[in-house]
Amino acid sequence: MTDCIFCRIVAGEIPADVVGRTDEAIAFRDLDPKAPTHLLVVPIRHVDAPRDATGEEGARLLGHLVQYATRLATDLGLDQRGYRLVTNTGPDAGQSVPHLHLHLLGGRPMKWPPG
Ligand code: 5GP
Ligand code: ZN
Repeated sequence: MTDCIFCRIVAGEIPADVVGRTDEAIAFRDLDPKAPTHLLVVPIRHVDAPRDATGEEGARLLGHLVQYATRLATDLGLDQRGYRLVTNTGPDAGQSVPHLHLHLLGGRPMKWPPG
């Protein structure tokens, strides 16, 4: 058993509101949503952060996560008004779960720069 929350969600040990899945990724709703739609797009295999997705395999995985997130955004009707795709890395960015994930946020206007 692992103590990584997202690995435990992938394994079905912790319940989550799963919106979709591919061979390499899972998408589920954030427990504490920051927008009307707030999904987390997470690789099924544990990777700490984007910097750890190295080489050709890492490049393919990162490409897949972004493509999958944008497909979800389209499927959820976020495409027309827009959405934000974010990954937080390390303490300054506020990363709280050390398992690579993309936040897909949409359904309200957002400010820039982020806080
Ligand atoms: P980070 O802060 O690392 O960029 O994002 C981690 C996200 O995971 C946070 O937005 C947090 O609300 C979410 N989160 C933490 N624990 C759980 C959980 O057990 N289930 C779900 N669905 N989301 C979680
Ligand atoms: Zn993990």
